[in-house]
Amino acid sequence: MGSSRHPALSRRGFCLCCVGGAFAATTGWLTPRQAFAEARGLVSLIKDSAATSPIRTYKLRNNIFVLEGSGGNIAVLTGPDGKLLVDAGISVSRPQLSKALAELGTEPIAHLINTHWHFDHADGNEWLHVAGAKIIAHENTRKHLSVVQRVEDWDYNFLPLGAGGIPSEVFARNHGLKLNGTSIDLKYFGPAHTDSDISVTFADANIVHVADLFWNGIYPFIDYSTGGSIDGMIAACDANLAAMDKDTIVIAGHGKPVGSKAEFQAFRDMLVGIRDNVARLKKQGRTRDETVAAKPTAAFDAVWGQFVIDPGFFTRLVYEGV
Ligand SMILES: [Zn+2]
Repeated sequence: MGSSRHPALSRRGFCLCCVGGAFAATTGWLTPRQAFAEARGLVSLIKDSAATSPIRTYKLRNNIFVLEGSGGNIAVLTGPDGKLLVDAGISVSRPQLSKALAELGTEPIAHLINTHWHFDHADGNEWLHVAGAKIIAHENTRKHLSVVQRVEDWDYNFLPLGAGGIPSEVFARNHGLKLNGTSIDLKYFGPAHTDSDISVTFADANIVHVADLFWNGIYPFIDYSTGGSIDGMIAACDANLAAMDKDTIVIAGHGKPVGSKAEFQAFRDMLVGIRDNVARLKKQGRTRDETVAAKPTAAFDAVWGQFVIDPGFFTRLVYEGV
């Protein structure tokens, strides 16, 4: 968390959106038990961890990279027009992130795209803006970053970012940029993980950052408090998949940063399978707890359930939306 925010985190509060990026580099995935056994708030824990986590850099194609270790996975495009970042990470990672960015080249930071408003993707906005970034996002991201935002499932209130951290260029549906000889297409697919998610496509390199529409190998969080829904997640996956081919590199928001279309398809199929199971149980009149007890995720848990968003929690998130 940045110094501009003052979280009030209760005992049941924990951040579901960002533990992977914060912890993967040092300790591997948190198990559900570790995640719930918080002696202090997990958002604070994530912040402290991000403060010391190393940043791991992956080179993709052309002049495009992924940085892992500060909240959500960050894509970087380098070149003479300056660096463009897709997502900002958590501000306490600034020293490591600055070093990792400097190792990619001497050009300044010129642009930042936020894939959505969540703190593990936008908390670094203020320092990156001071460093030179013009910030671009969907109009709902600007809306959420401008006011106090309560996330019920985290039992957490996020305060607005300072003026410099608020995106200055927003759009409603589609937006195109041409930087460093590369076309960059920003697309909105309607409410999904939140109501502010976009995907960012580098067409020349056949790379798409789909951010929190894709949790590579783990159950995702869905933020109903700002317009997310399971059906929206599935629809956004389908729309993104339709624009990909077998050579597309798919950057995930959390989990393994560099994915394939096949892995993204498997994630989408998992969402559909569990959605159908949960919807059937709810239609039978089962309560939320009865639906969790029926274990509608059982066939998927060995692969997808090894993260803080455990089978019971993910079942409750799906139940809310069907
Ligand atoms: Zn998120």
